[in-house]
Amino acid sequence: MADEQTFIAIKPDGVQRGLIGPIISRFENRGFKLVAMKLTSPGQELLEKHYADLATKPFFKGLVSYMLSGPICAMVWEGKDVVKTGRVILGATNPRDSAPGTIRGDYAIDVGRNVCHGSDAVESAKKEIALWFQPSELNIYKQASAAWVYE
Ligand code: GDP
Ligand code: MG
Repeated sequence: MADEQTFIAIKPDGVQRGLIGPIISRFENRGFKLVAMKLTSPGQELLEKHYADLATKPFFKGLVSYMLSGPICAMVWEGKDVVKTGRVILGATNPRDSAPGTIRGDYAIDVGRNVCHGSDAVESAKKEIALWFQPSELNIYKQASAAWVYE
């Protein structure tokens, strides 16, 4: 469906390293539609909810403090198969395994500083969008290029 949405975030390392522009460009250039975006510094509670499925992992505490270490650029992107394609654009979780041409494959080395986040399924995308954004922050508009991007 062309109205599928995903939650993409540029983590504090990506923001500090000046990668907001290049990362947004990859989604824009692909043809996806930006629905929401904010530079935000959420508290521990939101971040623990965001990563709730990883709460038992040994790296959980470090992961939350990494995410608390600076502002995050939170975004919602929309388009056909955007959840799956978004994950491909990001690259493998561990940059060691990320192909060149992906964000992590081009900009990261350590799994604990892998620059970006992307929802892993349509259902988790819905949960994450609801956690990070108010419904009124999601912009409803027609993408002018849609007729040139979709058959
Ligand atoms: P993602 O969906 O590709 O971001 O990967 P996960 O949901 O499995 O993990 C969430 C985030 O936790 C990753 O993006 C990494 O930043 C971090 N992470 C995952 N595995 C490890 C690990 O083994 N060590 C450390 N330090 N961080 C990890
Ligand atoms: Mg994940």
